[in-house]
Amino acid sequence: MSLQHSLYDSPVFQMACRQFDLAADAINMADAMRDRTKYPRRCVAVALPIKRDDGRISVFEGYRVQHNMSTGPSKGGIRIHQDVTIGEVAALAMWMSWKCSLVGLPYGGAKGGIVVNPLDLSFAELERLSRRYMQEMISIVGPHKDIPAPDVGSNEQVMAWMMDTYSNHVGHVEPAVVTGKPISLGGSAGRREATGEGVAYLVRAYLQDLKIPISDATIVIQGFGNVGSAVAMALHRWGARIIGISDYTGGFYNPKGINPKKAIDYIAYARCLKDFHEGEEITNEQLLELPCTVLAPCALERVITEKNAGRINCRLLAEGANGPTTNEADKILEQRTEIEVIPDVLCNSGGVIVSYFEWLQNLQCYYWEKEEVFQKLHTMLDKAKDSVDYQMRKMKFSRRLAALTLGIQRVAEAKQKRGLFP
Ligand code: GLU
Repeated sequence: MSLQHSLYDSPVFQMACRQFDLAADAINMADAMRDRTKYPRRCVAVALPIKRDDGRISVFEGYRVQHNMSTGPSKGGIRIHQDVTIGEVAALAMWMSWKCSLVGLPYGGAKGGIVVNPLDLSFAELERLSRRYMQEMISIVGPHKDIPAPDVGSNEQVMAWMMDTYSNHVGHVEPAVVTGKPISLGGSAGRREATGEGVAYLVRAYLQDLKIPISDATIVIQGFGNVGSAVAMALHRWGARIIGISDYTGGFYNPKGINPKKAIDYIAYARCLKDFHEGEEITNEQLLELPCTVLAPCALERVITEKNAGRINCRLLAEGANGPTTNEADKILEQRTEIEVIPDVLCNSGGVIVSYFEWLQNLQCYYWEKEEVFQKLHTMLDKAKDSVDYQMRKMKFSRRLAALTLGIQRVAEAKQKRGLFP
C-alpha cells in the first residue's frame, strides 16, 4: 500500500507512519505484518446537515476512523475543530491503538472528527450536530464495537447527547457506548481531570527519578484547555510553580507563578485567555522556548519542530497532547540528552485509562469512588512507566521509541496470532 495514494495522506498521518516505520525497523517486524498493523482498518465520512437557530441549513463533515479492532472494541475521542482532516483523525486513531496497547487496555484505537469551530455554534446547534453525528455512526459504534469519548472541542455535554441518541435508537439506556459522560449519566468520578492528572502524576514520578524536588520545579503549559488546566492544577497543588500558560489567543509568562484556578475562572467567563494579564504577554512560539523545568504541550500536533527543538529549554518534555513533536524534532531531541521526553502515548494515557474504568463501571452497573479511580489509575501508570523505562534501557532506545515499540509489538502479535481470514 502506498502512502502517496492513501486517502489519509497528510503531514500528521505521514508523521504517525514514519514513527511506525522506525519502530517496526527497530524490532525487526516481519514484512508481512507491517502494512497490516499500520493502516487503519476502516473509516466513515458523513455529511451532517443541521438546522441553524436562524432557520438556515448548514452541512458539516464528520469522520470516524477505526484503526484496529483485533484486541477488543476500538476506542478514542471525537475532535471538533475547524481544521480537522481525515488524515489527522487517522493518525490520532493509530496513536490510540499504540496507547491502549502500551498501557494494557483491551481496546484497539479509533478517532472521530467534526469539521467546525464549536465556538461558532450555539448550544442548541452543537446539540443538533452532536446528535446527528451519533445518528450517522450508529451502525459502527457500540459498547462492544467502538466507544467514542471527548477530545479537543468536545466535552461531557456532547457525550451526554450522543449517549441519549444511541440509547433512544436501541430502546434502552446504554451508558457504555461513550465515555467521558457527566457523572449523573454514568460518567466516572475523576474522568474529567484524568488526562491532566495522569500527566501530572508522571511528571512528578520523573522529577523524582531526576532528584528534582517538585517545589523547585517551574512549569510551562502550552494549551490551557481540559488537559492543560488539570495538569496545572495538580502540579500547583503539589507545590510546583506554573510560570507560563497559553491558548490559541496567546500566552502569559510570570516568573513569580500563575494561580491556575484564577486562569480557569477567567476562561469560564471570557472563553479564552485573551486579556488575562496575570504576567507578561507572550506568543505561543516564545512560550515554548521559555527556560523551565517542565514543558507540557497540551494542545494540538506538531508544535515542536525542527525550528524550535534546538531551542526548547526544559529538563522534562511532558507530551499532554497527541503528536506535539515532529519526526525531525525528535531527531534533534535525541541528541539533546539533557532533556527527558515523556512521549504522548505514555504521558496522556490517563484519559483513556479512566475511560476504560468508566466503561467497566457502566457494564457492571457498579460505581467507584474517586480515590479508587485514581489509585487504580496510578497503578496502571506506574506499570506502563516501568515497562517503557525497562525497554529503553534494555534496547538502548529513546523513550518514545521504547513506548511505541511496546505498543506496536503487542498489536502486531495479536493480529499475527489471530491469523488472516479466510
Ligand atoms: N481523546 C483522549 C485521547 O486522546 C481520550 C480518548 C478516550 O478516552 O477514549 O487519549
